[in-house]
Amino acid sequence: MKSLFAQSVAGRVGYLPEKPEKSAAELLSAHLLRKVEPQLPELSELDVVRHFTRLSQQNFGVDSHFYPLGSCTMKYNPKFTEQAAALPGFTRLHPLLAQMPEGERYTQGALQCLWDMEQALKEITGMAGYTLQPMAGANGEFTGVKLIAAYHKDKGNKKTKIIVPDSAHGTNPASAVLAGYDIVNIESKDGMIDPETLEAALDDDVAALMMTCPNTLGLFETHLPQIVEKLRKVDALLYYDGANMNAVLGQMRVGDVGFDVVHLNVHKTFATPHGGGGPGAGPVGVSEKLLPYLPVGRVEKRADDSFFLNFDYPKSIGHIAPFYGNFGIVVRGLAYIERLGGEGLRRASTFAVLNANYLRVVLQDTLDIPYNRVCMHEFVASAPEGQRALDIAKGLLDRGYHAPTIYFPLIVKECLMPEPTETESKQTLDAFVEALMDAVAEGRDTPEKAHEAPVTLPIRRLDETAAARQMVLTEDMA
Ligand SMILES: *Cc1c(COP(=O)(O)O)cnc(C)c1O
Repeated sequence: MKSLFAQSVAGRVGYLPEKPEKSAAELLSAHLLRKVEPQLPELSELDVVRHFTRLSQQNFGVDSHFYPLGSCTMKYNPKFTEQAAALPGFTRLHPLLAQMPEGERYTQGALQCLWDMEQALKEITGMAGYTLQPMAGANGEFTGVKLIAAYHKDKGNKKTKIIVPDSAHGTNPASAVLAGYDIVNIESKDGMIDPETLEAALDDDVAALMMTCPNTLGLFETHLPQIVEKLRKVDALLYYDGANMNAVLGQMRVGDVGFDVVHLNVHKTFATPHGGGGPGAGPVGVSEKLLPYLPVGRVEKRADDSFFLNFDYPKSIGHIAPFYGNFGIVVRGLAYIERLGGEGLRRASTFAVLNANYLRVVLQDTLDIPYNRVCMHEFVASAPEGQRALDIAKGLLDRGYHAPTIYFPLIVKECLMPEPTETESKQTLDAFVEALMDAVAEGRDTPEKAHEAPVTLPIRRLDETAAARQMVLTEDMA
């Protein structure tokens, strides 16, 4: 497919704006004028519309395909959340306005959104307070670890280590290292954190345990109370990676179990797709004792019900992201939460889990499922003996399905991690199962053919290492 520049035809125009009354030379001083004409492609409006429509169709997206990408929760996000975020009262607001003299009264609605979102997340998770600043899940983890560090520093604790089980998300150890901690990795046992292994790793240097729940195997930790009790003994804090909260919304509350810090992914769990490289929001909730360290400014409410930003928190870790984080994502999430309500959120997590278990059970004769028990919103399977997960994933693309996550988590060989999400129907899941069985059969009967996939897409199988290391960004790729 040719780029717009390669399609350019001299003199072709799309839109003819009215001729301005004054020329650029009359309006601007000489040093601001360009010396050469801009080198823009010359095209008709239809050329441009077709180009971008074609480009958009070369990709898989939730609006066009079932997208069971485990851990990423590529569910359908209802369009009313986009409409809420696009309201001119939000989009035309300058982020500094709330902090300007007089600005407060023009920003009450936006401040109330932030306030309402914090109240909703507190109620959903049972935490004492939230910051909405972090701009993604991993940014939330970094913020959470900074809060843990601030707490220990304030108490005079000398702590250097954070325990991360091998069933935690890959970003957890990365965030803890960025925040200056050494990582102690512990092995899970039968897919769970093993209290004895944890005990052996615990000493006074441990600042926190960072765990993902449901973990990367899609399983819910069964030893939570024991884990909490053990960490308390050495004044270590408990960090809960709640990026995949869509599995537990309305079923359990992290704060009630005794966790000190949790981050959520508003993208994934509420509304806004994940994985598009677009903006996200990773709010961090904390227990009472970590409240003084939360980033500023915090949205607060006066006795007369007006909202303001409070920067008066001397122990705060400061700013973690500009202004209030990705405000538009928070608005989408809030719209979603308010429209669904408590019962709706509970139904969402119920169906997320039901759908995953349905897939797990109907696929158990097709794939190897190492931890074959009731899962949460996703499960992990291995390609059948002698087959490659990569071939099956690429085969699914030819059959019109985005592939599940593959080769993650690292603790399961040749793994595929499907996450159907709550928004898919039984018909869609059944059709996916059929496609997957077909791809597996092809891998078994004609492995050379399976190795060729995908054959129907604009781009065939890439050498992904070479694609990253020797990038070729020329115009006319076939
Ligand atoms: C997606 C995810 C993250 C990271 O979130 P980003 O928004 O991609 O930074 C962290 N933990 C878990 C369990 C996740 O699924």
